[in-house]
Amino acid sequence: MKESFPNRDGGAVLQAMIKAIRDNAVILSEVDGAIGDGDHGINMNKGFSLCGERLAESPGGLSDGLKTLGRVLLSEIGGAMGPLYGTFFLEMSRAAAGKETIDRLVFREMLERAADGVISLGNAKVGDKTMVDALAPGLAAYQAAVDGGRSFSGALAEMAEAAERGKETTRAMPARLGRASRLGERSVGTLDPGATSCALLLGAMALSMTSLLSAG
Ligand code: ADP
Ligand code: MG
Repeated sequence: MKESFPNRDGGAVLQAMIKAIRDNAVILSEVDGAIGDGDHGINMNKGFSLCGERLAESPGGLSDGLKTLGRVLLSEIGGAMGPLYGTFFLEMSRAAAGKETIDRLVFREMLERAADGVISLGNAKVGDKTMVDALAPGLAAYQAAVDGGRSFSGALAEMAEAAERGKETTRAMPARLGRASRLGERSVGTLDPGATSCALLLGAMALSMTSLLSAG
């Protein structure tokens, strides 16, 4: 297993995320239907598939692809998630821009900037039942793995698993932010849609980057 991959090969990461959202669009809307307005999968799939069309016209590497994705989400998708995921992917893109290769430290910077951007924009804390409940534990596990000397692929696996566990913790939480917060205690017992999509996306990133690290 390699410890880095070329930025220019990272288009595969975008394709993996686009496919993950497409394959799970119905589930994401069902999760949102339980405590929100049922549009989360539709919104996300609209944005990600539009990004897929743009990338088909002008394919690029990881940082360029993430920039296209971030811009499309910011400008084209409705709901709370457009600005939040738009910021997430634009910050990731900025941290990767100009880097010839992506290694575990570049990705650490990407993830840190993405999380900072989402948290400063939406002010969500762990426990509010939002995407941050998957993102923050994913980031913390990744940082701990890198600090502990794990390989890039090992740290990615830790990130994906922690994001999944974080997503599961949202079942027990009453929503404190966004549309679902109007339900208060009645939102307890269901997953948060944003945490569900965030765990899905971090999982797709981890898997596709691991394939790039094991290729060649
Ligand atoms: P809407 O609620 O406008 O219909 P979506 O259905 O696309 O938007 O997204 C809902 C998700 O947005 C929630 O599940 C939650 O994870 C996320 N969310 C809402 N407000 C915030 C916030 N302030 N910070 C982070 N995530 C948030
Ligand atoms: Mg919704």
